[in-house]
Amino acid sequence: MRVNCLRISVTDRCNLSCVYCHPARDRDFVQDDEVLTFDEIHRIVRLFADCGIENVRLTGGEPLLRRDLPLLVTRLAAIERIRELTLTTNGVRLKQMAGELKAAGLDRVNISVDSLEADNYKQITGRDVLSRVVEGIHKALEVGLQPVKINAVILRGVNHSQILAFAKISIDVPVTVRFIEYCQTSEGTPAADDYVPCREIRSVIERAYGPLSRATVRPSNGPALYLKIGGAIGAIGFIAGRSTRFCRSCNRIRISSDGKIRPCLYSDYTCDIGQVMRNGTSDGQIRNILARAIGCKHTFTRPDSLVRGFSMRKVGG
Ligand code: SAM
Repeated sequence: MRVNCLRISVTDRCNLSCVYCHPARDRDFVQDDEVLTFDEIHRIVRLFADCGIENVRLTGGEPLLRRDLPLLVTRLAAIERIRELTLTTNGVRLKQMAGELKAAGLDRVNISVDSLEADNYKQITGRDVLSRVVEGIHKALEVGLQPVKINAVILRGVNHSQILAFAKISIDVPVTVRFIEYCQTSEGTPAADDYVPCREIRSVIERAYGPLSRATVRPSNGPALYLKIGGAIGAIGFIAGRSTRFCRSCNRIRISSDGKIRPCLYSDYTCDIGQVMRNGTSDGQIRNILARAIGCKHTFTRPDSLVRGFSMRKVGG
């Protein structure tokens, strides 16, 4: 699979403390002077575009916390050969920012929501803001940040009672609800075995709604399997990163908020491109480094678990 998708974590700060991602007691943040500047991010994306990157996703942490984010969106959207610019957000600030982001050139958003029940949502994220997130989803649809995808990580004993509520949204709202298998990132997060495999989620949905059929979801580049309930407007996606290995179809490369290129989430191989840029390295040399990072992407053998000390909010989920 050709690597054509770049994910950039624009901040490791978040306004939620999801139990599986960023436990409240985790205070190990990147220093301000280590965070990539807009000029640095723009330069990296421009040079990555020369190496075949066509899709860029801004993530975090919570990307909507990064000051002046629409200015960065405007600059990245203007780079030739970048065909799609997207963002993954928890949606808490989306209602206020969706219109400005769309006008700046953002194509679409993925919104993470792990429960549709207010108390359960608060238990997972630490904040009572579900209604704001739902307003953010509607605003994204209204301003045309589409197709909107909703990401849900299902944990046994935490929110697995929400599976059918999520599936039901796809029947009459034009969104794709994606179930992402949980991967344990550190000792402070739920046990690895608390994950609910996508095949189990699918069978819960099929018991209620009958067999799911294939859905066409654009863009569909990536490892998700897209299906739909009969007669539904929306679709359901399954991202089985834990129970299956989709390394060969993985087309992503990541940059952490402190400027480290990460070709594979499961490998500790990184290259500190932020530091390299600050040493006055030329565009040509940087392009060679980026091409090498892309080239080694499919050379890793994936272990069962993420590397010790891995931080999803720093690397960018
Ligand atoms: N703050 C934004 C958000 O909530 O979407 C972007 C960052 S968040 C790290 C990106 C995605 O990673 C979210 O959909 C989240 O559910 C997912 N994620 C975080 N930790 C995860 C984990 N341990 N296993 C699987 N997915 C995870």
